[in-house]
Amino acid sequence: MKIRLSSPLTKDSIVDGEGLRAVVWTQGCPHNCPSCHNPQTHSFTAGELVDIKDLKKEIDTLTDHDGLTLSGGEPMEQVEACLEIAKYCQSKNLNVWCYTGYRFEELMMRSKTEPLIIELLQNIDRLIDGRFLIALKSFEVPFRGSKNQRIIDVKASLELGRVVEDDKYLPKAPVREEKIYI
Ligand code: SF4
Repeated sequence: MKIRLSSPLTKDSIVDGEGLRAVVWTQGCPHNCPSCHNPQTHSFTAGELVDIKDLKKEIDTLTDHDGLTLSGGEPMEQVEACLEIAKYCQSKNLNVWCYTGYRFEELMMRSKTEPLIIELLQNIDRLIDGRFLIALKSFEVPFRGSKNQRIIDVKASLELGRVVEDDKYLPKAPVREEKIYI
């Protein structure tokens, strides 16, 4: 099986999810978010087709890594190949994060006709969902580009049948200013 990638595997990243991670850059994205920082990944014919077997060999060389991130491009446009990679990572105790321009709810709708999406989600630990919205661009939301994007605990969400965000990354309640009278 092959996967279309925009760049070779990034082996050491600390900005694409928690801890030390490798990143798979899928090629092809249908969302066209204005001001996308990776416009070269939109075409579904650019990039390079890479054999999953070769990618697995590269994953085998990872040491001290916490996990692997599926990014893009749009990983949910190459579900079967991403599932193969995600399963392989789980078998090697590498946690899996995935970026997608789809909302979790959209993926659940799609899964009615594409059941592999559920299988892929079952092998993802954290899903960062939603399109990049320039109006909500923020440097204050870790691992995300805009405030609408959520870091979703996928296993809890599938279990409970509703979106469960990772509370570690939820916005903190505003600090109340208290007047001190002396
Ligand atoms: S989903 Fe990501 S890669 Fe696709 S257009 Fe939006 S920001 Fe760019």
